[in-house]
Amino acid sequence: MSENRDVSMEKLVSLCKRRGFVYQSSEIYGGLAGAWDYGPLGVELKNRVKDYWWREMTQLHDNIVGLDAAIMMHPRVWEASGHVDNFSDPLVDCRQCKSRFRADHVDLNAPCPTCGISGSFTEPRDFNLMFSTHMGAVKDEGSIVYLRPETAQGIFANFKNVAQTSRVKIPFGIAQVGKAFRNEVTTKNFIFRTCEFEQMEMQYFVKPGEDEKWFEFWKNERIKYYDKIGIRKEKLRFHRHGEGELAHYAKDAFDIEYEFPMGWQELEGIHSRTDFDLSRHAEFSGKDLTYLDDSDHSRFLPYVIETSAGLTRSVLMVLSDAYEEEELEGGDVRTVLHFHPLVAPVTVAVLPLVKKDGIAELAQDLAAELREDYSVFYDQSGAIGRRYRRMDEIGTPFCVTIDYDTKEDGTVTLRFRDSMEQVRVPSTEVAARIREEIKNYRRV
Ligand code: ATP
Repeated sequence: MSENRDVSMEKLVSLCKRRGFVYQSSEIYGGLAGAWDYGPLGVELKNRVKDYWWREMTQLHDNIVGLDAAIMMHPRVWEASGHVDNFSDPLVDCRQCKSRFRADHVDLNAPCPTCGISGSFTEPRDFNLMFSTHMGAVKDEGSIVYLRPETAQGIFANFKNVAQTSRVKIPFGIAQVGKAFRNEVTTKNFIFRTCEFEQMEMQYFVKPGEDEKWFEFWKNERIKYYDKIGIRKEKLRFHRHGEGELAHYAKDAFDIEYEFPMGWQELEGIHSRTDFDLSRHAEFSGKDLTYLDDSDHSRFLPYVIETSAGLTRSVLMVLSDAYEEEELEGGDVRTVLHFHPLVAPVTVAVLPLVKKDGIAELAQDLAAELREDYSVFYDQSGAIGRRYRRMDEIGTPFCVTIDYDTKEDGTVTLRFRDSMEQVRVPSTEVAARIREEIKNYRRV
């Protein structure tokens, strides 16, 4: 059996469309560039990746709490955060073919990558990435609001609320998942870079002086997380930001990069933000945002360590990492998505071998029982081999087949996606066995 685990972007886009993970937005109108819709399987996958992150970052820590802030915030937030003045990309246009690029993404001395003409680039110009709109009936300077370009500022603006109304003590974190919007110049590579996307961010508030310790802590935690969710180690690496790369707020920053089909790219940023954000919000709002530490009666503006991951970008990573084409004996090729069972859109498929003689009814009863605990797909049509392949292609980790023996002795066949191994188990034990298998799952 030979394997090919490296997938091209074309294959991934095509599988996502064919099986209902991701569609192009407004496709019946010719599509909207860089916008994508999540189909029936895609929304399940995205929700599960989000739930996995949420559980990891809140439930497993007694000092991290959640937040869901509004997308549109007071415009002063974005002045305080520096986004109005600094959140821009340098842009160049090709004078010949009018293609537009980020100046830091092309070699300005080389020919235009689209039309091949040399010396056709304009001088780089700064272009603000925030989308703005107007709130209320009057469209003037005073009614301008921005669609948030990151979820982090909703956390900073609520720091005092959370510190005063929940029982957390420093060090503590606030986690949030939600939409963010950036008027990206070049949206390409499928759902990797889009104008509308989702982020999973956590801001960890610490005592000044302890920031380096917690920065190391979160670097380790975040890389371990990807291992837990079954991502191949050799596809992940850290990239430390050099002097010129650091954002205006950052003291130190590491990206976790993943080797996507188009190469190594940022998946998540871990940033040491000092007290930049809280001090700016204190200054712009005129509110005291200091924290009183009961343990030694000191009062200070906390320092912040941020972990900032893209949810939609994580979905692309999970899909790329899971994809495999396996050549089986006899030359047949099996396409499999090796999702971790906790993020797989369907956990278990229930398949009656035949529809007649009461077999389908037995299968439907078992499916109803399993639905209490798992996401179940029931499929009674087609040859069993084809049904298994369909489930492999959407990454369903377990298939349960009901046959004539089930009627005799109450056992069913449990098939494992990764190894294609099959075992016989009593149907009353299937739910518990699957729970055990999920708990001990390791991708081989
Ligand atoms: P880049 O340099 O690639 O534009 P960034 O360094 O500005 O990204 P951050 O502001 O650190 O990105 O955002 C944190 C995370 O949010 C990124 O690691 C990425 O996963 C996600 N993200 C940022 N921009 C986009 C986008 N346009 N589409 C999808 N995900 C994004």
